[in-house]
Amino acid sequence: MTTVDCSTPASKAEILELLAARGAEQGALHAAAREARTQAWRDAAVVRGVIEITNRCRANCGYCPMRCGNPRKPAPYVLSPDQILDAARNIQAAGLSVVFLQAGEMPETTRLAGSVIPRIKDLFPGRVEVLLCLGNKSRDEYAYLRDQGADSYILKHETSDPVLHQELRGQPLRERLDCLEVLIGLGYKTGTGAIVGLPGQSLESLADDILLARDLGAHMVSASPFIPAGGTPLEACPTGGIHTTLNMIAVSRLCRPEWLIPTVSALGRVEPDGQFRGLRAGANVLTVNHTPPEFCRQYPIYGQDRRIVQLANARQLLERAGLRNRGARWIR
Ligand code: SF4
Repeated sequence: MTTVDCSTPASKAEILELLAARGAEQGALHAAAREARTQAWRDAAVVRGVIEITNRCRANCGYCPMRCGNPRKPAPYVLSPDQILDAARNIQAAGLSVVFLQAGEMPETTRLAGSVIPRIKDLFPGRVEVLLCLGNKSRDEYAYLRDQGADSYILKHETSDPVLHQELRGQPLRERLDCLEVLIGLGYKTGTGAIVGLPGQSLESLADDILLARDLGAHMVSASPFIPAGGTPLEACPTGGIHTTLNMIAVSRLCRPEWLIPTVSALGRVEPDGQFRGLRAGANVLTVNHTPPEFCRQYPIYGQDRRIVQLANARQLLERAGLRNRGARWIR
């Protein structure tokens, strides 16, 4: 193969060919993804401010250091409504307009997030997006959070391989997909996404991850390299490859130019300039951490030595990529 066809890939075979691109072909793929982003978004990107409201989680996902069975998990914490509101004020003061409430999967986050969402909305004189990532919940809980003012929800399917999903998450893939369908039905702007490089994962199943997000009608999609974390059953497994992760971003962009696609902080764990390379592969979202500093290290997503992205880093990355923060205005 000497050239790649970078027009919108429609079939699994086309996606597979693009995911495998390396060298000059990979450069052409990423350039085509940037062009698709420009056509859909011009120079607009979205910067989110995340507040990690609790590190407690009832689930036991094999790849995640937040799993309930991790013997080395940091001391549990739950932010109070006032602590969440203080952090939201900091997000507003930083000039951001997307407040992202993230947590492990715990039933009590429904009431906690629901109680603060209207107060968060009152803090912002202009448009604000409240984005949630709180795991699987019932239809009634999702509906309650939507009624309280939540705009969007991220629930990554992690892997579309049903066998691997059951093995790693201890739940059927169908359960996750049912939740995603409920979220879309309730009018949430909905995000999903995959981990790249899980042990036992094939390139075919990564192509299925993109097709799943497309066929579901998601509005946002992510690809995060697998980072082996201490205290998990996968701690000795190799890190996910940056090339395949970047190609997942690029191919997702070509499949759906209008998607929001983050360049995740885990890319910066795999390679120092990894997040910039994510933007160069067609991503258009960055997340800045606004969890109170005393709790940041107790939220061990991507491992204890997680990379904390600050506003200055995000601004510098956007400037280098020729992008500008559009914030909550992407929700029309
Ligand atoms: S991936 Fe999410 S649901 Fe699974 S253990 Fe980690 S925090 Fe909990």
